[in-house]
Amino acid sequence: MILLTSDTETKPTAAMRAAIAAAEVGDEQKHEDPTVLRLTGRVADLLGKEAALFVPSGTMCNVIAVRAHTQHGEVLLAERDSHVLRAEGGGAGMVSGVMTEPLESERGAFAPATLDAALDRIGALPSPYGPRPRLLCLENTHNFGGGTVWPQDRLDAVCETAHARGLKVHLDGARLMNAAVASGLSARRICEKVDTVWLDFTKGLGAPIGAVLAGSREFIAEARRLRQMVGGAMRQAGIAAAACLHALDHHVERLAEDHDNARRFAEGLQAIPGIRLVHGLPETNIVFFDPRAAGWTAADFAKAAASRGVKLVPVAGMIRAVTHLDVSRAQIDEALAAIRAMMGRG
Ligand SMILES: *Cc1c(COP(=O)(O)O)cnc(C)c1O
Repeated sequence: MILLTSDTETKPTAAMRAAIAAAEVGDEQKHEDPTVLRLTGRVADLLGKEAALFVPSGTMCNVIAVRAHTQHGEVLLAERDSHVLRAEGGGAGMVSGVMTEPLESERGAFAPATLDAALDRIGALPSPYGPRPRLLCLENTHNFGGGTVWPQDRLDAVCETAHARGLKVHLDGARLMNAAVASGLSARRICEKVDTVWLDFTKGLGAPIGAVLAGSREFIAEARRLRQMVGGAMRQAGIAAAACLHALDHHVERLAEDHDNARRFAEGLQAIPGIRLVHGLPETNIVFFDPRAAGWTAADFAKAAASRGVKLVPVAGMIRAVTHLDVSRAQIDEALAAIRAMMGRG
């Protein structure tokens, strides 16, 4: 099976498993796991923040960050189709009791004027009527925007506007390293103006468990308390952190291969009559396409592709394909051949 469903499909490589086996460990809840301490120190430095915390998942990073930045009843602003609003089971509402204000975007990114307009709308009634806007969450790359990279000047400008209007900015960096590799900017530069940020090790970086949340020392102390509250504090977590360190050493630069493969796949699809690339050619490792003009529903298309050995996921009437460590360039060509054959019969 060629697994184009998600970059979470990656399995630890033999070398990563060896790093896991060799990990020095201790009790992470007591700050005594040396491998976790190495990882958090390294990620804090990579992202240019004072401190960092190892967290079991990216979703938990968002849950913790939203709770740390807000009080119940305050407003979280985020792009309409962002993970924090669409894919976390309503966790921000459940745990933090925030109101949410969805923002329109072009493929995940928006201009400062969009933020200003939303804040003007929220604050249109004089206090004490309006709810209090508190936090802006951004996503880079943007998953449902098609793996798009925020233009850096736009990201910086949106952060400046948010800060000028009294908001904190939290960056969902599930695929931040994809953004860094695609843009040629350092991760530190990309998140220079955000207050808090995390990166996921279980996406393109290919580790089995873990995400690292970073911010000021004060924020991370509070995040540590909240991680305990939601049951995310771990024990001999160096087992997982060793895989993340290995990923930083060996799986960052190679993300460029995933981007090349996604582009190759998209170009191949584009040449098939009736297939439309929803967001144009990809900037990173995510391709959304729509087969309906060729007479296929997304669900039927995914089913037929699966029967030919290509696993794809239907999302909101479209198909999402994601390239990663466990998909080779040869498999991209095989997948395209399978789809062409299938459409010929369809
Ligand atoms: C995957 C993902 C998350 C959640 O990360 P998990 O580690 O799966 O919990 C959050 N945001 C974005 C943009 C993601 O793609």
